[in-house]
Amino acid sequence: MTTIESAADVAHRYDPVIGLETHVELGTASKMFCGCPTTFGAEPNTQVCPVCLGLPGSLPVANATAIESTIKIGLALHCDIASWCRFARKNYFYPDMPKDFQISQYDEPLCTDGHLDVVVDGRTFRVEIERVHLEEDTGKSLHVGGATGRIHGADHSLVDYNRAGIPLVEIVTRPVLGTGALAPEVGKAYVTELREVLRGLGVSDVRMEQGSLRCDVNLSLSPAGSGVLGTRSETKNVNSLRSVERAIRFEMGRQAELLDAGGRVVQETRHFHEDTGVTTPGRSKEEATDYRYFPEPDLVPLAPDAAWVERLRAGLPELPAARRARLAASLEASEFELGSMANAGVLELVAETVAAGAPAAEARNWWLGYLAQQANAAGVEPAELAITPAQVARVVALVADGTLSTGLARQAVDGVLETGSSVDEVVAARGLVRVSDVDALGAAVDAAIAAQPDVAEKVRGGKVAAAGALVGAVMKATRGQADAKVVRELVLSRLGAPG
Ligand SMILES: [Zn+2]
Repeated sequence: MTTIESAADVAHRYDPVIGLETHVELGTASKMFCGCPTTFGAEPNTQVCPVCLGLPGSLPVANATAIESTIKIGLALHCDIASWCRFARKNYFYPDMPKDFQISQYDEPLCTDGHLDVVVDGRTFRVEIERVHLEEDTGKSLHVGGATGRIHGADHSLVDYNRAGIPLVEIVTRPVLGTGALAPEVGKAYVTELREVLRGLGVSDVRMEQGSLRCDVNLSLSPAGSGVLGTRSETKNVNSLRSVERAIRFEMGRQAELLDAGGRVVQETRHFHEDTGVTTPGRSKEEATDYRYFPEPDLVPLAPDAAWVERLRAGLPELPAARRARLAASLEASEFELGSMANAGVLELVAETVAAGAPAAEARNWWLGYLAQQANAAGVEPAELAITPAQVARVVALVADGTLSTGLARQAVDGVLETGSSVDEVVAARGLVRVSDVDALGAAVDAAIAAQPDVAEKVRGGKVAAAGALVGAVMKATRGQADAKVVRELVLSRLGAPG
């Protein structure tokens, strides 16, 4: 498949229906059912015990903090919290789960029937949440010897059980209808907003690149206006916000091409390839019956009492949507500007830059302008850039007090992005100081005049506009560090022309 039709073209003939299943590793100090630590990046198989290795005779004990975090997530997503529910045993044999089953929740999830609103292009889309449930993460397999890192072609596999048993929350949406050509953006906006909610709650570090937030993207197409749901594909472990959008876009094009040619979409899991932006088939989808779920006999039912739930509700922090509404005022932003900032993923960054002392207009310009360009060029989200809002505020302050010109400020930002050093360190290390000292500039101005005598003569003769060539030469000679206004004044006074 070489060309993929645009989402807008596909949406003329088909109604895309998206669904998102998001897995979030909770940031608890210990695992879900044992006391093992959960530190990321530890030596393989050093954070394990008889419970998470599933050794005979070991018994799980539920982690209260993880249950509390799950209830908080449910409340933030406007869900009903079950007053009584049970864990379920999900039976399967994969080497990454040594017990041959995973403790999860099946027909009795802790939280149900919520929603999360997202705004794309000025339109609000309500994404309905079907369920939020709590389970344990699996271990990690490493397939060695193949070109792709996948099991096919590998000559052996290694398994690390450090992750096995880390509390994992799964958030499942209902099918999202009516997004049309905006389906890719709505999918991305949903995961972005969900990540903000989770970050705000402080229940997870939500780092997609480390796998603590992982997303499965379901997509189906139905003939436009038919209301008949099509067969969906499920693209697994899409691990960046941008990839969520790209995966939906690709699947829309792929399925449309298939359906146009009279083919049919197979219900299957697919893998998204970051490098090429395409999805390829994985295994055909298991049915729930394949897992032979039954209530977990080793754990007591979960029965959060109403007073506990209400205490958690009262302790919820301000949610991102409410915070944005409040920010609109403090950022002196119109509804449209607020939307642009939210869509560009810079709203919180602008707010934090303002909180660090920058004027709202300056903070907005930096994040929507130069920094958005840098993020785009690097293929990352602005929030993933190696510069903090406080550092941006520092750059703004140095421009305001005349230390840096706009050009030098950009060089300072580049330096921070490249080296991770502070703004002041970059300014000192790279000698980024605006030269406005008349004595220091005098020599450069004289050199420019000597190098272009014909231009100098024109200026002497009254053609003031010609001075630009000399100012340009001085700016170049000083690597952009001169104050152009001062240079111009010097050139004109040297040549006896009116300023
Ligand atoms: Zn353990």
